Amino acid sequence: MSRDRLRTYLDKRDFRRTPEPAGSVGRDGGELPVFVIQEHDARTHHFDFRLEIDGVLASWAVPKGPSTDPRIRRLAIRTEDHPCDYADFEGTIPDDEYGGGSVIVWDAGSYRNLADYGDDDEPRPMGACLDDGHLKVWLDGEKLQGGYALTRTDGDRWLLVKMDDEAADARRNPVSTEPASVLSGRRVDEVADDDDARR
Ligand code: MN
Repeated sequence: MSRDRLRTYLDKRDFRRTPEPAGSVGRDGGELPVFVIQEHDARTHHFDFRLEIDGVLASWAVPKGPSTDPRIRRLAIRTEDHPCDYADFEGTIPDDEYGGGSVIVWDAGSYRNLADYGDDDEPRPMGACLDDGHLKVWLDGEKLQGGYALTRTDGDRWLLVKMDDEAADARRNPVSTEPASVLSGRRVDEVADDDDARR
């Protein structure tokens, strides 16, 4: 696996200034691929949805965050692949750096590929689904569970939709009712305050 996959990520950042990980491709441990959703209080507040695919975190910025209601379609803008160690990143990126603002790990866990099966009894690989512009995954997170579909509509624009399964729930709205980090218990504004106090 080549670090070329992270070229855009590395080029956008000055690692003497940002606390973000300088990144490595691949990771040790767990067999199941991971997903993470980071709340990012940047100039425009959004949620970054990331799926481990072929040793990096394929990433989308979701302005309104994920929904648990299958009738709701959420815009997701594809962004640069991130290193796998970004999945644990919480902190504050300086205002004048790329992506300036505070970040928390809003949800995390493992996922399974729900892509259609091919002739060889294996689901179509995630990397191929990414190229096709259509992903279906089962999330085992702390806040989010069940199937989610990501479908490319135009260029970097995708739609993130909850699949209609037993984990679908139109009454939940976890992006507003469950604001705490699954890593530290802090809300994104508390991370900003902590980092302000430390400076
Ligand atoms: Mn972001």
